[in-house]
Amino acid sequence: MSKFSSYNFSGKKALIRVDFNVPLDEKYQITDDNRITATIPTIKKVLDDGGSVILMSHFGRPKEGPAEKYSLKHLVEHISSLLGTKVDFTADCIGDEAVAKAKNLKPGEVLLLENLRFYKEEEKGDEAFAKKLAALGDVYVNDAFGTAHRAHASTAVIAQYFAPEEKMFGLVMESEIKAAEKILREAEKPFTAIIGGAKVSDKILIIENLLDRADNIIIGGGMAYTFERACGGKIGNSLVEEDRIDTASELLKKAAEKGVRIHLPTDSIIADKFSEDASVSSALSNTIPDDWMGLDIGALACETFTKVIHDSKTILWNGPMGVFEMEKFQNGTKAIAKAIAEATENGAYSLVGGGDSVAAVNKFNYADKVSYVSTGGGAMLEFFEGKELPGIAAITK
Ligand code: AMP
Repeated sequence: MSKFSSYNFSGKKALIRVDFNVPLDEKYQITDDNRITATIPTIKKVLDDGGSVILMSHFGRPKEGPAEKYSLKHLVEHISSLLGTKVDFTADCIGDEAVAKAKNLKPGEVLLLENLRFYKEEEKGDEAFAKKLAALGDVYVNDAFGTAHRAHASTAVIAQYFAPEEKMFGLVMESEIKAAEKILREAEKPFTAIIGGAKVSDKILIIENLLDRADNIIIGGGMAYTFERACGGKIGNSLVEEDRIDTASELLKKAAEKGVRIHLPTDSIIADKFSEDASVSSALSNTIPDDWMGLDIGALACETFTKVIHDSKTILWNGPMGVFEMEKFQNGTKAIAKAIAEATENGAYSLVGGGDSVAAVNKFNYADKVSYVSTGGGAMLEFFEGKELPGIAAITK
């Protein structure tokens, strides 16, 4: 049993760092509450044990101090209805009111602190601020994987004010770490990583780290064209990072040396403009006509990639294969999601992570057909880049 599951919170005030950075519409209604629902089991475990809960989170990117738009008060009612219990709120995350409310909290009660980022000290990782937050609770629980790559006051610095037995991961963090570790350290072979999205520059480190682990790396999306250029291809108006062509060449060379197979899309769906009403055709990805651009992987690429995925035992997917937000260019991303779901059904372990690939599996209804969908975009990317995440290190070291 994990540290969190075996801990008895009876009579304890658990200070839980959650990620309640959910999208709101103009009427302050939550449009996607996944991040909140994900942490409900963590909160309930504490309450069921007879403990009380103090929730703290960031919310959006307020520039200077408090702002109505970024107030966590808009979430109180919804959290309360999900928990089936009243949630109290303090309009300042530190200070007299927060101290008094935290002090008077009874077993079974929940208190939500106002947006931590109303203080610039949060993102600066200020120790005095972290200490004030720490003083509110007896036990520190970090359940915010999405911010685990930040050395902020509430995500990392705060942990030093708790004894080793009084700081731990919550259930969301535990499952995120377990899923990511399974891919990075215990991947059953063949291991295939599928990397897509717009920019090579964002994905260099992850590809480099995967070169020591994966058997296959499938590259799709806009970034594939920088690799095509590195191979001497003609890519028309497709997205390219001129200053990364050499990097792409080097990655291809390293992969060959290490025996990792890099799969680029043989063909592409091409368009005469970046638009839903563009004229559409297909072409080999290394002979795209001038004035046309590749906006999705083509039928041949879908077929080859599907076969590689079907033959894999471990699959990691980060980044879409094309401009999946537009209907005309969503086929490739959909085909990959389908192939991963099929491989998973046949016993492979699959992890989908990174904002856009998560949006894609949700859009195409494959989220419950893969082994794990990660909630942490940047954090999960840095984890797979092989970096130590401050939010994890603060608890384990
Ligand atoms: P990233 O944030 O780097 O993972 O990139 C995701 C974005 O890449 C999505 O919004 C896609 O629309 C975009 N994208 C994927 N394929 C292409 C492409 N071939 N050309 C331009 N943009 C693309």
